[in-house]
Amino acid sequence: MTVSHWIDGAQVPSDGASQPILDPSTGQQIGEVALADAAVVDAAVTSAVAAQRGWGDASLAKRMEVMYAFRQLLVDNTQELARIISREHGKTVPDAAGEIARGRESVEFACGIGAHLKGDYSSNVSSGVDVHSIRQPLGVVAGITPFNFPAMVPMWMHPIAIATGNAFILKPSERDPSASNFVAGLYKRAGLPDGVFQVVHGGKDAVDALLTHPQVAAVSFVGSTPIARYVQQTAIGAGKRVQALGGANNHAVVMPDADMAFAASQIAAGAFGSAGERCMAVPVAVAVGGAGEALIAELRKEAEAIVVGPGDKASTTMGPVITAASKQRVVDFIAEAVAGGAEAVVDGRGLVVAGHEEGFFVGPTVLRGVQTSMRAYCDEVFGPLLVVMEVDTLEDAIALINSGPYGNGTAIFTASGEAARVFTERVEVGMIGVNVPIPVPVGYYSFGGWKNSLFGDHHAHGPEGVRFYTRAKAITTRWPHQAQRNVSASLNFPGHT
Ligand code: NAD
Repeated sequence: MTVSHWIDGAQVPSDGASQPILDPSTGQQIGEVALADAAVVDAAVTSAVAAQRGWGDASLAKRMEVMYAFRQLLVDNTQELARIISREHGKTVPDAAGEIARGRESVEFACGIGAHLKGDYSSNVSSGVDVHSIRQPLGVVAGITPFNFPAMVPMWMHPIAIATGNAFILKPSERDPSASNFVAGLYKRAGLPDGVFQVVHGGKDAVDALLTHPQVAAVSFVGSTPIARYVQQTAIGAGKRVQALGGANNHAVVMPDADMAFAASQIAAGAFGSAGERCMAVPVAVAVGGAGEALIAELRKEAEAIVVGPGDKASTTMGPVITAASKQRVVDFIAEAVAGGAEAVVDGRGLVVAGHEEGFFVGPTVLRGVQTSMRAYCDEVFGPLLVVMEVDTLEDAIALINSGPYGNGTAIFTASGEAARVFTERVEVGMIGVNVPIPVPVGYYSFGGWKNSLFGDHHAHGPEGVRFYTRAKAITTRWPHQAQRNVSASLNFPGHT
């Protein structure tokens, strides 16, 4: 099976370069993905430009009708799409269904795009002069997305880009490309004109072609921080509007007054769900004021109860990581920390899943006694590794978080409203949970971190998505009556009358 580009309403054959798609639970190749070059990207952009002219003129009623139909198709096809994601990504099927449901929130927001595109109107700003504002689509916009949410992260982008009248070109991760073509098929069935949603597959060559193509007006990127920075700088250099969301190293603070069993269960879900491969994962717990012993005891129970296996097996609660290199990286981080004096409370390095010996599995791991200079703490782990740091006060915990380079998500577990308020006011992070471990905002808010977790001025989806994918026009109107027509205009810059 070769997954190829989706252009003008169908998958097009590709005789160019390709690379293998692997099943992370076996390590075996299960397909190939085509790799677009600049010529393929240009073909996709050129036909998107033509399609956007008609789509940009389509009524809001028509656009919303397509979004409603697309939403229903997503609901009806959730299980099939979840199985496609699980097979190439490795996450469990229910977890994949969860990401589809969260992504669908953005589609539901786009179903009401008419309300979000309402302009302003001011009557009689000067004698007989009115002003109104509208927002119009940018044209052709592109989205470049990571492997870890092959359905949800693109859905932060395309429903809003399309509902606001743009054509959208998706360049998904080459590691799990099939979900994007499946979604393209759903859009077609929903009545979206061909060419308005295109998919080009590939790696750096495809990305670079999009970043520099003169007819791509804007780029949304989600992925690791070094690539986010590169994408932002390259696309800005080419004169485009850019939002580039990067990596994360999210901390969950646990106060001594927290319900420890509850906090540990929530933090374990954040640390080990999807094998820790979420930008809103919780790789660091910060135990405050002696909370460490009780928290670690509960975390040990949680980690040891996790059932690791292939994502399509009903009993599995945690799947593999995405590649052999990802597995090695996590194992190396653990080894380096233990060699430096950290204690492995739970050590997942030796885990073998029977019948899946070549799969990219690492067991849930909990470390304590880690130094802030160790990669297990200061790098983005993106694997099932939870580090427990111990500090004296809430101020120490906030200082620890604010000293890091990322600012995506964080959480506090406490029974104290005062502690929660101090934390939410002072911490330099874009998305905060109070007794909620993975505070991904619902689709009618916007998603975005601070510092090295987001480069650009707009967060993703929700109201900020509408602003990102549209540009404003202010229109000043006069319909002069006879007496006004007889008065000559002054050469002076007009004041108010
Ligand atoms: P990645 O940066 O390796 O890849 C992201 C995209 O960039 C892919 O489409 C990939 O093909 C492309 N790409 C990779 N290398 C490139 C290069 N040299 N030049 C141009 N394009 C390139 O990220 P990933 O491993 O797929 O995903 C994991 C990362 O994404 C983590 O760092 C995670 O935190 C981050 N992420 C962030 C958010 C967020 O909202 N901030 C959400 C999800 C994932």
